[in-house]
Amino acid sequence: MTSSDASSQPIHLKGDILVVDDVPANLEFLSTVLTQQGYKVRSVLNGPTALKVAEAAQPDLILLDIKMPEMDGYQVCLSLKTNPLTQAIPIIFLSALDQTKDKVKAFTVGGIDYIPKPFQAEELLARVNNQLKLRAAQRQIQQLNAELEQRVIQRTAQLEREIGERLRIQEELLHVATHNSLTELPNRTFLIQRLMQLFNQNQQKMSDSIVLILLECAQLEAINNSLGYHAGDQFLVSLARRLETCLASGTVLVHCGEDKFAILLENSPNLNDAIQIAKILQRETQLPFQVEDHIIHIQLSMGIVQGAPTYEHPHHLLRDANAVMHQAKTQGTGSIQVFNAAMRHRALSFFEIQNELHLALANHELSLVYQPIVSLASAQVKGAEVLVRWHHPKRGVIFPSDFIPVAEETGLIIALDRYILRQVCLQIKTWQEKGILISTFKLQVNLSAQQLSQPDFIDYLDSLLSETQIDSQNLALEITENALMQKGDLAPTLLNALKRRRINVSIDDFGTGYSSLSYLHRLKVENLKIDRSFISQLTQTRDSWGVVKSIINLAHDLGMSVTAEGVETAEQVDYLKELDCEFAQGYFWGRPMDSCTVAVKTSE
Ligand code: C2E
Ligand code: CA
Ligand code: CA
Repeated sequence: MTSSDASSQPIHLKGDILVVDDVPANLEFLSTVLTQQGYKVRSVLNGPTALKVAEAAQPDLILLDIKMPEMDGYQVCLSLKTNPLTQAIPIIFLSALDQTKDKVKAFTVGGIDYIPKPFQAEELLARVNNQLKLRAAQRQIQQLNAELEQRVIQRTAQLEREIGERLRIQEELLHVATHNSLTELPNRTFLIQRLMQLFNQNQQKMSDSIVLILLECAQLEAINNSLGYHAGDQFLVSLARRLETCLASGTVLVHCGEDKFAILLENSPNLNDAIQIAKILQRETQLPFQVEDHIIHIQLSMGIVQGAPTYEHPHHLLRDANAVMHQAKTQGTGSIQVFNAAMRHRALSFFEIQNELHLALANHELSLVYQPIVSLASAQVKGAEVLVRWHHPKRGVIFPSDFIPVAEETGLIIALDRYILRQVCLQIKTWQEKGILISTFKLQVNLSAQQLSQPDFIDYLDSLLSETQIDSQNLALEITENALMQKGDLAPTLLNALKRRRINVSIDDFGTGYSSLSYLHRLKVENLKIDRSFISQLTQTRDSWGVVKSIINLAHDLGMSVTAEGVETAEQVDYLKELDCEFAQGYFWGRPMDSCTVAVKTSE
C-alpha cells in the first residue's frame, strides 16, 4: 500500500468519548449533545472511576472537568499520561476557571485543549470534532509509520538475503575462476596467485624452500581420440584423484589444464624430497587406470624446479618449470628432469630460436638432408627420409630436436612444414627432369600434427602438385600415430585424399605413442615405422625381440609393410631380416646426407 492510498482512507470521526464531571447536569448536557451527533459517550462522576474506565477500554477522547472533589482534573490527567495504556488518549479540559494560569497548567499536564464553561454546544462540538480528526490523523500516521517500519524491516531482510546471495555467487565465481571444473582442483590462475603471494611474503624473492613439479601425461590426446572425450575426462579425474592420494595433505595439487598438472611444495628446502615425491607419483601412475571397460597405461613426464632468490618474478619459475618439463618430454615419456643452470641457458635460447626461426624461413637458412631407406631383402635404396637442418648464421647447424618443438609451440611449424614440402617437390621435379628417379623411389616428408589439422592442407598439396607437375608417386608422408589420432574421425578422409593422389603414408615413431594397431587397421596405411628405441634394444633382450616381432607380424596381418628406424649394427640387420621386416634406415647405411649423394646412390 502506498502512502497516497493511506491518506485517501476516510477518517472515522464518530468516536468513543469519556466525559468526566462531578456535576450530573453537566454530564447529562454533554452526553446529550454528543450522542445526538452520533458519538458513543461514557460518563463518570469522579477521577478514580475515570482512570479505571479509561484503562479498561480506551476512549478516543476524554472531556475532563478540572474542579472535582477527591481528585482534580489535573491529577486525573497526570495519571492517565503516566499509564502506557491511556497516555495517548487526547484530553480536553472543561472548566469554569478562566484564568490564563489554569489554561497553561491544563496544557502543561498534558491536555490538548480547553473548553470554558458554560458550554456553547457549537464550540464544544467543533473542538471535539477537531481533536478527533487530529487523533484519527495521528493514528493514521502511526499506522503508516508502522507499515513503513515493517516495509523497512522486510526490505532490509530482503537486501540481506540479496547481499548473501551475491556474496555466495561471488565466491562461486572466484572458485570457478581458480579451479578446474572437471577435476575440481585449483587451476593455473590459482597457482600464479599463490606463487605471487609467497613471493610477496618473502620480500619479493622466490624462496628456495619452494619447489614446483610440473607433470604431463602425453597419452591424453590419444585416449580422447580413440575412446572419446568422455572417457578422456573420466581418465583425467581418476588421474587427479590418484595424484592426490600420493601427496601429503596440504600439498597444493594444481590442474593447469588438459594433460598438465603441477605440485607446489611450499616448504621443501631439500630438492631430493621433491625428487622422491616425483618418483612416487611416477610409480603410482604406472599402475593401470580403468576407464569404462578399457585398461589404460600411462607415463608422466615431469620437470622439477626449485625457487631461488635470483627469480625476479613468479612467472620465471613457471617458465623454467615448463622448460624443464619440455626437456623431460624430449627424453621420452616417463622421465623426471630437474632444472639446472645449463637449462636456463637453453630456456633463454628458446626465445631466441622463436624470434630467429621466422627469419630463417625468409632467409632460406633451412636445408634438406636425406637418409636412405633400404630394402632389407635386396639391400637396395628404395627411398629416403627428408630431414630438415637449420644453418644458423652464428650458431652453425641446428638440429631439428632444438627447433621443431619451438616451431610446434609457436605454430610456425605450419609454415615450416609447407616450406619443406615445397622444397621436396622442387627437388623431385629436378631429379625427374634429369631422369634419375625411378617411379618406386619415395621421398618421405615428415608432417606435424598441426599441419594435418589445417583444413586447407590438401588444397596446399594440390597447389604444389600442379605448380611442379611432379609424379606424386615419388612423394610419401610420415605421420606419427598421435597426429593421426588427433585427426579423429577425419583421419580416414585425409588418408583417402592422399591415396587418390597416390601419395603413400608411413606411421612414424610407432611404439612411442598410444600404439593401437586396431585403430591403424581401420585407417589402411601402407607402411609402419618402428621407433628407434625398439630397434636399439632389439638384440639386447628377448622381450624387445618379442615386441618387434609381434609389431611386424601384426602390421603384416593388417597389410602394412614395416620400416625399422635407427638401425646401426649388422646384428640388428640380421635380426630384422629374420623377422621379415621389409625396410630399414639408420647409420648402418648412412647418416642423413645432402641431395647429390642420395641422387647418386639412387642412380646406381
Ligand atoms: P624422426 O622422424 O624419427 O627422424 C629420424 C631421426 O633419427 C633423425 O633425426 C635421424 O637423423 C635420426 N636417425 C636416423 N638414423 C639413426 C640411427 O641409426 N641412430 C640414431 N641415433 N639416430 C638416427 P633428426 O634429423 O635430428 O630429426 C629429429 C626429428 O625431427 C625427426 O624424427 C622428426 O620428428 C623431426 N623432423 C625432422 N625434419 C622434420 C621436418 O621437415 N618436418 C617436421 N615436421 N619434423 C621434422
Ligand atoms: Ca620421420
Ligand atoms: Ca621416426
